[in-house]
Amino acid sequence: MLTPLPPAVPRLLDVVLDCRRFPDGDMAYASSLLDPLDAPELSKLRRTTTLSHVAQTPAFRCVSCNSPLLVRTESVRSSRELGGRRARFYHARNSRAVGCLFNTEESMTPDAINARQFEGRQEGTRHKALKAGLVDALHGDAEVTSVATEQPVIANRRLRRPDVLAMLASGERIAFEVQLASPQMATIAGRTQFYAEARIALLWVMDEARLNASLPLQGFQDIYWPQGGTVFALDDDALAESKKAGAMRLHRVTVTQVDNRLEWTSELVGLDAVQAFLGLDEPDRHPSIATDPLARALLDALARGDSRAAGAAFTLLAQSCGVKANWYDARQDGFDRIMPVLVTLLTGRKAAPSGYADDAAAAILNSALEAPSLRDWSRVIAVVGNSTVEAAGRMARRSTWDKVSRNLQAIGQVPRRADALEQRWRPVLRRLFPRLPD
Ligand SMILES: [Zn+2]
Repeated sequence: MLTPLPPAVPRLLDVVLDCRRFPDGDMAYASSLLDPLDAPELSKLRRTTTLSHVAQTPAFRCVSCNSPLLVRTESVRSSRELGGRRARFYHARNSRAVGCLFNTEESMTPDAINARQFEGRQEGTRHKALKAGLVDALHGDAEVTSVATEQPVIANRRLRRPDVLAMLASGERIAFEVQLASPQMATIAGRTQFYAEARIALLWVMDEARLNASLPLQGFQDIYWPQGGTVFALDDDALAESKKAGAMRLHRVTVTQVDNRLEWTSELVGLDAVQAFLGLDEPDRHPSIATDPLARALLDALARGDSRAAGAAFTLLAQSCGVKANWYDARQDGFDRIMPVLVTLLTGRKAAPSGYADDAAAAILNSALEAPSLRDWSRVIAVVGNSTVEAAGRMARRSTWDKVSRNLQAIGQVPRRADALEQRWRPVLRRLFPRLPD
């Protein structure tokens, strides 16, 4: 098993604001700022950090209290390091920093640092036990190359510490969020969006022992219905089975509504089932199309023509992108018809129920371009068509290109609806097709 090289010194401030380029600061990992430095570079960084602090334009600030930070080093003798791996950030003397969780002058053991990092956030004993068990189960699994708890992840100038972060042999990362209390919609939407931006798969994990009480709660319903009624769960059984198998075992819970009741079944599955659920197992999955459960639930439902399931996934996905539109608005705009066309443009395969053959990409594209109600999406089609070589090839076919250019001309004369569509749907488009240009 590979574990990342530990830093030479434990660092309580593992994420800092780097203010050298922008006064507001960019979040950065202390390890990526300090570990690569050789001895002269470290000396230079200490100098600029101190000088900028004296000039009251600090180079680094605390993410928690925003106080100026300086760089301190352990001795070469004790750390057996010359470069930045013996360095860490610390708070300059400052009244604001007095109450800061991350303000400490004394050197701390890694355990003490972990304890400190957790202070201020609520973690019950059950949550702690399930999390620790999950870490053990993942450690024992040959498919997993590293496991970390509470490791900071930065995306789009925001920071989260997933309960458990695992790196797989394939290079994929999975964030496990052990969720025992019914989450708010804003929490679900925020995490979904955050991990999509960080390109990390998000897996919600419930407490199997409390499913009867938890599954009816709206917060959990808001998690599993958009996932097609599937959610994963842990308990002592799963942990014992993991130990026995020498590989992670989780309960895969399938929920259905029968009349006015919820019914659920549960079976123990391994990491392969989790990977399949997260869309990490498809060798030919398309790099331009998002594969997280929510995106897949939406695109799969559209491919089946299941408008109700598509609407459930759409609602959460749109919320997570900050788009205030409901499924009715989406259908009014033709969003539900144009998304499968964009998928076809990227993959060359049919992505909605229709009489066309699976590989009749040209016919599918042309018929969408001929539909008056979809005409104002043509600029989006052109952008998606330019995002990969294969899609550009499909768009460049004579019969298709004639229609695209005719539609673009028409939009150029009356651009209002096309502009409105793009403005409204840009965040969702970028979420579903992460490689689109800005
Ligand atoms: Zn601070």
